[in-house]
Amino acid sequence: MSRRRQIYEGKAKILYEGPEPGTIIQYFKDDATAFNAQKKGTINGKGVINNRISEYVFTRLSHIGIPTHFIRRLNMREQLVRQVEIVPIEVIVRNVAAGSICTRLGLEEGEPLPHTLIEYCYKDDALGDPLVGEEHIACFNWASQDEMQDISSMAIRINDFLCGMFAAIDIRLIDFKLEFGRMYDGDFSRIILADEISPDGCRLWDMKTNEKLDKDRFRRDLGGEEEAYQEVARRLGILGNEDNGPGEVFDLSAHRGKLRETKPKK
Ligand code: UDP
Repeated sequence: MSRRRQIYEGKAKILYEGPEPGTIIQYFKDDATAFNAQKKGTINGKGVINNRISEYVFTRLSHIGIPTHFIRRLNMREQLVRQVEIVPIEVIVRNVAAGSICTRLGLEEGEPLPHTLIEYCYKDDALGDPLVGEEHIACFNWASQDEMQDISSMAIRINDFLCGMFAAIDIRLIDFKLEFGRMYDGDFSRIILADEISPDGCRLWDMKTNEKLDKDRFRRDLGGEEEAYQEVARRLGILGNEDNGPGEVFDLSAHRGKLRETKPKK
């Protein structure tokens, strides 16, 4: 294997320098962490499944006009993505009460929220990713007002699309986390969806049984995490297809500055 420069190692992914300027390679690990990395473990095969699920979701989102960093999947654990400057905000979208909002506000898990809620957390592991408001984001210049407008409207569109996509396979989308990045084009920059969308960062409950099909199985020691991730991939129709070779060639030059026309493979 050719030697590549590692840019960053996170909790679930490693980033390497990509083959062309402005690209990076995301490598999906089996490592799992919870509670601000106080709990650590591995979920066998998670990296392979999350790579496929995230490829699928980002591709579907690009088809509805959401600009994303995804270019193509390279192999079982890697995908080629556009390099972005990550906005240091985790965007949490909630449809049903679960997790931290229950402890914070005394809500019962599973209670539908009166309407979809968007929360923002400042990305800082040492501080435990604290919840912040738009005033903090503006005050500390983490993102501009225009960027926050793009981020919140994209988050709502993504939520509407994903709720339908998962409902079609009998899964309720309880909540999920998004990350966005800035892509620079000369003096201009635009906000695009980055990171990954997978059962690591979503709460996914079986519509009929409320069985959890996400990382809560690991967080709460419920067992069966491998099977749960596989089940999500299976219902999305992306397991059993052993296409693990290089994806289609993607001409980056044709897509600079007009990301909305990106058409990754179906
Ligand atoms: N989430 C995430 N990374 C984080 C925090 C949250 O992917 O650092 C996801 C989490 O999987 C869930 C949603 O965002 O789907 C809401 O998480 P919550 O705030 O309830 O935090 P948790 O209960 O996971 O600590």
